[in-house]
Amino acid sequence: MIYIHIPFCKQKCSYCNFHFSTSLALKDDMLKAIHQEIDLRHLELENKRIETLYFGGGTPSLLKVDEINRIIDHCAQYYDLSNTLEITLEANPDDLTSSFLRPLSKSPINRLSIGTQSFYDTDLRLMNRAHTSGEAEDSIKRAQDFGFENISIDLIYGASEMDIWKNNLNKAIKLGIPHISSYALTVEPKTALANWIEKKKVMAPNEETQNEEFFYMSDFLHQNGFQHYEISNFAKPGFLSRHNSAYWQGKAYLGLGPSAHSYNGKAIRSWNIANNPLYIKSLAEGKRNFEEEILSEKDQINELIMIGLRTLKGVNYQYILQTFSEELLIELQSLINEKLQNGFLIQEGDFLKIPQKHWFLSDGIASDLFLL
Ligand code: SF4
Repeated sequence: MIYIHIPFCKQKCSYCNFHFSTSLALKDDMLKAIHQEIDLRHLELENKRIETLYFGGGTPSLLKVDEINRIIDHCAQYYDLSNTLEITLEANPDDLTSSFLRPLSKSPINRLSIGTQSFYDTDLRLMNRAHTSGEAEDSIKRAQDFGFENISIDLIYGASEMDIWKNNLNKAIKLGIPHISSYALTVEPKTALANWIEKKKVMAPNEETQNEEFFYMSDFLHQNGFQHYEISNFAKPGFLSRHNSAYWQGKAYLGLGPSAHSYNGKAIRSWNIANNPLYIKSLAEGKRNFEEEILSEKDQINELIMIGLRTLKGVNYQYILQTFSEELLIELQSLINEKLQNGFLIQEGDFLKIPQKHWFLSDGIASDLFLL
């Protein structure tokens, strides 16, 4: 898997703490640096047959289609993309114009992940999104008209009351969207939203409403033919995200671009510097500016549990039993037994999973199992 981070956005959404810049002044230098990083790190991934490629950000739809194609072509010099089943572009609704979609529909991009967030202007203003409700809907219809079938939209719940949330979900169904990623509106430190709440300009998201909206969404989408395959992700059959699924299975991935994370599939995780000028400078000098951590056995177990318990399938406990040292497993087994007895975990074959009614508590359940 290859992930490419494009660190530019038109404006700063009120809730966002991702790495990006709202100035495009360094865009050409950034693209050059990403190409340099492709050359510099092409030996890192052992498996040269790439199953998925993912342009995330930031806002990758701020690139021209030619610029996207050149990155894909450059990857193809080192990797076998002939069987790459999924090439995703994250796109914002206001970028999905006909003049962008026309060449994009002829490019290797075969999946769009659209940052819709809501079909309501009140929500979109609260989130300081760059698009309107009209653009949210039109962009999806336009992408479909240009032949994109594999479309995911992001929707944020907990931003407004239940009626609006229900209408948002209805709209997604009417538009024939096959994949939805949905996250609660969260208040990250140092964001505009945190500031507005502190100054009492807007209300903080209500946890109870978020809880109700989450369970409503889960039931509603299930009734409409979606599989709730990860806490935040829903898909019609055949439309599960291959990229994210591989990530949740602990497969190796290469992350290119500032702030992008990489994982060797064993015990080494690294992340590029989250600073555009410094990222560009180091690549121009033929070096990668990054940090790295070696995961201990405990870290690896904790991570498998944390990621696996967010999925419908659960965590492969048999794999953990076969892979890690006995002394750690004795401690883990007693923590697991307690959760099994309390009904917060169930065992299905080799897998341990959280019953769906407790998914909203999954982070807490997983952290109770962490080996310290
Ligand atoms: S478009 Fe995405 S990455 Fe950019 S500010 Fe908004 S939420 Fe953050």
